[in-house]
Amino acid sequence: MRWQGRRGSSNVEDRRGMRYGRAGGIGIGTIVLALIAMYFGQDPSVVLQGVQPSTPTGEQVPYEESPEEAQLREFVSVVLADTEETWGQIFSTAGRTYEQPKLVLFSGAVESACGFAQAAVGPFYCPGDHKVYIDLSFYHDLQNRFGAPGDFAQAYVVAHEVGHHVQTLLGISERTMAARQRASEAQANALSVRQELQADCFAGIWAHNADRSRQLLERGDIEEGLNAASAIGDDRLQKQSRGYVAPESFTHGSSEQRVRWFKRGFESGDVNSCDTFAANSL
Ligand SMILES: [Zn+2]
Repeated sequence: MRWQGRRGSSNVEDRRGMRYGRAGGIGIGTIVLALIAMYFGQDPSVVLQGVQPSTPTGEQVPYEESPEEAQLREFVSVVLADTEETWGQIFSTAGRTYEQPKLVLFSGAVESACGFAQAAVGPFYCPGDHKVYIDLSFYHDLQNRFGAPGDFAQAYVVAHEVGHHVQTLLGISERTMAARQRASEAQANALSVRQELQADCFAGIWAHNADRSRQLLERGDIEEGLNAASAIGDDRLQKQSRGYVAPESFTHGSSEQRVRWFKRGFESGDVNSCDTFAANSL
């Protein structure tokens, strides 16, 4: 990607080095937070892994970043700024105002309106406070554990989370969440898949704009993005972690589906092409 020297976003919140105290083990707080997670349409099992009732000590020790981390921070900030450009334009064309999300950098653990999360949950978006949360060490995992290297793969992760923010602004997250609460577990998972694939499609729309309007993409970038989408498909991850695949428990979609919807957004650049909820087949 041709990102160096481009404008960074003013919406990055650096909470690295923040320390949290713990008040007890897993208890009612966990259940409440899991419910909040469900309410917000996020996979509750993801949140449960990381949740512990906690009290932030409010203490932030100065965070010493490595040169690699400094570069990643700048990179993420440029990508975020580019998503602001893309969605700002799309919203204003539709006669609406795009409210920019914040992006919180954290190290190890973080407190959000969606609960207390540890880095192991991976990057996430919290509809409750309109913020994207990312521990930059995830990019190490993306490259080494999931086999998805490259700066565009990294950008896709940010664009996907921003996709969830767009869904929130459009009222899609709230509708999905309400429908999930009335649904069986299998149906709720299926709805989650549609929501996640739409975020992938929205990430594709960002890539379309970054490419056409600002020539940010270089040869091989889209392949990096598609490889990342494929690497974090539910089937691939399940096979890796437990050796078999259970499609009814998918919450994000298969590798093939994630690639397909990212591509659809990238090729069309059109929000209307991302209606995963109306699609008969995904
Ligand atoms: Zn997602």
